[in-house]
Order: sequence, then structure tokens, then C-alpha cells
Amino acid sequence: MKKRYLLLLILLSIFIVPNVHAVTLREYENLVTKYTNELNDTNYGISQSRAELEAIQKKIAEYSKQIEEAQKEIEKLEEEIQKSNEEIKEKKKESKSLIEYYQISNGENIYLEYAFGASDITDMIYRLSIVEQLTDYNDKVMKELKRLIKENQQKQKDLEAKKVELNELTKKMRAEAEKVKGDISSMSAMLPDIKNQLSNYQNRVNYYRRIGCQPDDVIGVDCDKGNNAYGFVKPLTGSYWISTYYYWNGSSGHKGIDYAQGCGNPVRAVANGRVYYVGSHKDIYGAKMILMVHNYNGRKIFSQYTHLSGYAVREGQDVTAGQVIGYVGTTGWSTGCHLHLEMSVDVGWDYDDPGNYYRSYVGHIVNPFNYVPKG
Ligand SMILES: [Zn+2]
Repeated sequence: MKKRYLLLLILLSIFIVPNVHAVTLREYENLVTKYTNELNDTNYGISQSRAELEAIQKKIAEYSKQIEEAQKEIEKLEEEIQKSNEEIKEKKKESKSLIEYYQISNGENIYLEYAFGASDITDMIYRLSIVEQLTDYNDKVMKELKRLIKENQQKQKDLEAKKVELNELTKKMRAEAEKVKGDISSMSAMLPDIKNQLSNYQNRVNYYRRIGCQPDDVIGVDCDKGNNAYGFVKPLTGSYWISTYYYWNGSSGHKGIDYAQGCGNPVRAVANGRVYYVGSHKDIYGAKMILMVHNYNGRKIFSQYTHLSGYAVREGQDVTAGQVIGYVGTTGWSTGCHLHLEMSVDVGWDYDDPGNYYRSYVGHIVNPFNYVPKG
């Protein structure tokens, strides 16, 4: 019985003891699949949106053509109306002069001959009936012209209404186009990050496969033992100087190394690992900070980057040694631009226990130079 319990305990400790970096090769392979799918989906989304945008722009062009045609038609109708009005004027003038002749013929017979050149009374009556017929005819023509004007005015009104409707539709389509453009640019903005993640995991999978890891192997335990794939690197490149070294006696001193360098210079991950905190609320002075966990031959190593001016990673992201994670700053309790690098073994800053931030890690603090190259 005792033996069995012991065996059970050993098994439990292997499977239950939390170890974020007990990552199997399969997990990385799944992440490659995940980011490949994400990349494909995003690319597909972008091409769909581009096709949508093209269709909208075609529609807008079509509407603008229709508006132009309606405008031309309105102008043509205007010309016709003017022409009709002029014709009416002409006909009125014509009738007026005919009537004038008629009136003259009724009143003063003496002018009859002068007016119509009639040689006798029969001729005169004949000519008068012609005048009557002509004015009747002119009245009919004018009536028809007026009807035509009315009809053309109605057509103009309908076309103006159509123009308003088309302008309204164009406005709607333009808004839709802006929305689709926004979708395209936000999807495009996601691409570099997805591609970055994909190549990061693809490189890891390639590396672990090359050294013979099997899908279910725990990296650093079943394979890649004692072989840190990327090793530890300095957190800064370029020129800097160490303004404060590590001197910590367990209760007082300086728990890390201060690297003095200009604000805005890139800060790099000291090893392969996973970012588990990005923010400024964990530091009592509000310094911007990144916390990471690494696997070192199956053991958890933690790194802390403080006083940053900005971040280049997000929580949950896996990064490789030397990858830019943030930028040198002077946030929090700091009097000049510098990076405070702190490292801890086995227990990190509230890594598994958020309530224990100031207690859990203190006994685990180590000199970063135990891992990170000096200088
Ligand atoms: Zn410091």
C-alpha cells in the first residue's frame, strides 16, 4: 500500500505541479496550426472586404452616372420648355396681329382693301374666315404647347426626386465603403503580429523536430535536456553602463541590476519564455513593468524589466531570447533613464499566487549575472 501511495504521489507531482513551461512539442505544433489558420482567415477576410469595397465603388460610379444622366435630361427638358414658351409667344403675337386685322376689317371698311387687299365682298368674307381659322388653330397649338410644358415640368420634378434618391444612396454607399476600409486596415494591422507569432512557433517546431523531439515530449524534460535552445542574452544592446549592481542580503539592498541607457532604446527578453504580466499597477510607484517566465533545463526562471517607457509585447505572448519586448524609460521610482533587471528562481512575482506578490518571491531572488552575460 505504502509503495502504491508513493508511486501515486510521484505521478501526481509530475502531472499536477504547475509548470507553465512543461510544454510539449505538440503544443507548439498546435500553435503553428492556430496561427496558420488565423493568418489564412485574416487574409481571406481582407480579400473578401476588398471585393466588397470594389462592388461598392462600382455602385457609387453607377449612381453618379445615373445622376449625371438625370441632370442632362433635366436640362434638355428645360430647353424644351423654353422652346415651347417661345412658340407660345410667337403664336400669341401671330394671333394678335391677325385679330388686329380682323378688328380693322369690322370697323373701318375703308381699310379693308388696305388690310387684306380684298377686291370684293366675297373675297373679304373668305379672307375673314381664314383669319378665324388661323386664330383657332393658334389657340389649339398654344393649348397643346401648354400641355407639353406641364408634362415636361412633371418629368423634371420626377427626375429631381430621382436625383435626391440617388444622392442619398451614394451617401449610404460612401459610409459603407469607409466602414469596409476600416475593416481592411484593422485586419491588415493584425497581420504583422500573426506572422511574427507564426514564424516564432514555426522556428521552435523546426528546431525541436531537428533535435529529435517527439510530439508528446515535454520540452526541456523529455528532450532538449540541458540544452537551452537560445541561451541567455543581455537585455540591452548598444552602449550602456551599469549604474547599480546587485547587492541583496535577503531583506535589504538592490535586488537587481540597473542598466543605464537612453530612454526609448529597445529592451530584449533575456531568454526564450512567456510574458505573464505587462503593466504598471504591480509596482507601488507605478513603474511600467514586464514579467516573464523561462524554462532553464526544466526549471522555472523569472525575469522582471522595470521603469520601461513602453511595451512591445502583450500578456500570454511567447517570445524568443533577444526579442524586443519594451523600451527603456524612467517610470516609477527612478531618477533617470535606465532598465532595472531582476531575476528569480522557482517562484516569480505573484506568478501562481496573485495575493502574495511581496512575500512569495523574496527568498528566490538571484543575481541576474548568474544567467545573463556580464558587461
Ligand atoms: Zn534598480
